Amino acid sequence: MRPGIDVECREVGLRDGIQIQKVFFPTVGKIAWLTAEAAAGMPEIEVCSFVPPKLLPQFADAAEVVAAAKTIDGYCIAALSPNLRGAMDAFNAGVHKLNYVTSVSEEHNLANVRRTVDESVEDFKRIVALRDESAGDNKVKLATGLATALGCSISGQVPIADVMKLAERFVEAGADELVVSDTVGYANPQQVKDMFTAVINEFGKQVPVAAHFHDTRGLGLANVYAALESGCRHFDASLAGLGGCPFAPKATGNIVMDDLVFLLEGAGLKTGVDLDKLVEVREIVATNLPEEPLHGMYAKAGAPKGFVPATQAA
Ligand code: ZN
Repeated sequence: MRPGIDVECREVGLRDGIQIQKVFFPTVGKIAWLTAEAAAGMPEIEVCSFVPPKLLPQFADAAEVVAAAKTIDGYCIAALSPNLRGAMDAFNAGVHKLNYVTSVSEEHNLANVRRTVDESVEDFKRIVALRDESAGDNKVKLATGLATALGCSISGQVPIADVMKLAERFVEAGADELVVSDTVGYANPQQVKDMFTAVINEFGKQVPVAAHFHDTRGLGLANVYAALESGCRHFDASLAGLGGCPFAPKATGNIVMDDLVFLLEGAGLKTGVDLDKLVEVREIVATNLPEEPLHGMYAKAGAPKGFVPATQAA
């Protein structure tokens, strides 16, 4: 975690937020977005996904976006890949961090990345080996996303024991981080509390445990608070709540980054993000996706009278 902050927010809008957008988000627009958000103090931005352009044309410009992202200092550049092939491309492009994603639910993993969970774990081991071959001290960090950890739109409820088992396999294989993900927005705060308490108690001393929530059923920020109380200090979110999942009908929306920062800063937790500057970045999204509804209550209502964000109170 960057020094001087209490909680780490990670922008995933450029990946999760736009992956199912039919409209191509222009490359210059993506670069403008990540540049502005880095300038607002965002400590980590997932800038793209390394997948075949035939599957997701939205990320045909992945290498170009990473190259541009690397000209700006002071934040962690992350990219997603579900396999070795994409990981190679991400390493070659020069990302700081690779987000590898596997669903806890076998059915969802087959639908999403066309492989069994076992195959995904084996491929991750090959990615770790490839990463470890690379020279130098600044090795790429490998985060493993546990998708559908809090419920699956295909198989329904997902037992905590299944999540713990997969988490253990990834930590043993060399994961640098676990991202517990409510991919389809099923979770409620009590469930989040049980899950994060279990995962953090078991693995929290070895690796950071992050949360990835969707606001599909309106409980996104309540889930953040439950995870926070369970000791979680790393949260994914997307500016203006863009996002969704192709296998979860109507699962539109990551939690809203601007509202997340408002919640955390109001709780006295420094994020290092300038909330006013962050809200201004929404303009870039609006310009490039004019048809897309933008979510977020803070941007609509503004700051409460006398509100002083924790980052600015320092
Ligand atoms: Zn997501």
